[in-house]
Amino acid sequence: MDELVIAGAKLVTPQGVRETDVLIREGRIARLGRAHRPRAAFSAQGLILLPGAIDAHVHLALPVAGTRSADDFATGTLAAAAGGVTTLIDFTLGAPDKSLPQAIEERIAQAAPAAVDFSLHAEMIGWTPDRAGELAQAAELGVRSFKFYLAYADSGRRTPLGVLKAAMEGIARLGGVAMVHAEAEELMVPGKGPTPEGRPAVAEEVAIAELAILALRTGCRTYVAHISSAGGLGAYLAGRDRGAPLWGETCPHYLLLDETAYSRPHGRYFSVTPPLRRPADRAALWAALARRELQAVSTDHCPFTRAQKDAAESPEKLPSGLPGVETLLPLLYSEGVAKGRLSLAALAWYLGEGPARAFGLWPRKGGIQPGADADLVLLDPKGSWTITAEGLHMATDFSPYEALQVQGRIVGVLSRGEWLAREGELLARPGRGEFVPWGAS
Ligand SMILES: [Zn+2]
Repeated sequence: MDELVIAGAKLVTPQGVRETDVLIREGRIARLGRAHRPRAAFSAQGLILLPGAIDAHVHLALPVAGTRSADDFATGTLAAAAGGVTTLIDFTLGAPDKSLPQAIEERIAQAAPAAVDFSLHAEMIGWTPDRAGELAQAAELGVRSFKFYLAYADSGRRTPLGVLKAAMEGIARLGGVAMVHAEAEELMVPGKGPTPEGRPAVAEEVAIAELAILALRTGCRTYVAHISSAGGLGAYLAGRDRGAPLWGETCPHYLLLDETAYSRPHGRYFSVTPPLRRPADRAALWAALARRELQAVSTDHCPFTRAQKDAAESPEKLPSGLPGVETLLPLLYSEGVAKGRLSLAALAWYLGEGPARAFGLWPRKGGIQPGADADLVLLDPKGSWTITAEGLHMATDFSPYEALQVQGRIVGVLSRGEWLAREGELLARPGRGEFVPWGAS
């Protein structure tokens, strides 16, 4: 029988940390507790055992600004595997003339080279209320998370509030989630591109406040993507206080970086939407994480090479996006746990159970309990390393964290009981990843 025991690790769940053995059988967690005379054991003394991370916000092979995000499903998911992300959630490529089921089927086919498991959010670009029936069709295909933009009118991605409200009513009936990019278009400054002047924090704050009202009135579970500012966070928390069914996400770049990055010699490489904010915004986001007021930390992974960003003739042509999927877990451990800002248990929530519960992956993904997929990460808290773009697997020659010293080193990654990475060697194979539908058991 196909068995493996991870012996003696410190197992981390959102409830706490305990030392135990984990018995894996046929790709799933079979049992927790002392194992007797195991056939195959991996001695994990002194190591931390975390659920395989879920990155709920990833853009692989995304057409944008006349180019394409640099990672495809092969390179991006190998990088994910190296960084301990065993499940990622990407997006369909929505378009007004494409039905939701068609977009889902196309994207699943495009994801065939994936090395880790994946799920999808359905982009609602150009969707109209007369297409309400497509929501249930999407659900039948395993997709119950629907992505809206309150910005980007110029590229046709913006959903007007009336259409959003109609969609949220339908999604509420389905028991799904509306995932929303919340920035108010009217408060942006044209011609400034993805900068703090062009996309001020108040635009995020206003959009989240509006969204909270729609969530409250429609009863639709709403996931606020990439909260970047203290003001946006305040609007989110105020909405929750009123009873709006809101979940929130932030990203490592809003926790680790601030707007001073734009005045570095190659500041344009840091272009991202929403833009980087002030140090006080970073502090507010860390504090909210520590209080477990958010649901997930995801990356909005959307890398570009230096050449792709250099090619932009003006700020508004700059492709927005940063690499992230491979450094999500290491950075959150190093800057969060090792620096005392975040507990290990909270780390297991934000990278495991939180996103798994938000997007229909729980209990199969996101936790370490009998019956769950054996998606696991072993981390040596004593190890340390230095980030270089060259040393990472993401398809870009730029890292926003170049030369950053990282505490904690990933020594093993398992997906469904199979080693994807072990002792620094990347063993994942493209094509082994599976689509995980909402509600899969
Ligand atoms: Zn995104």
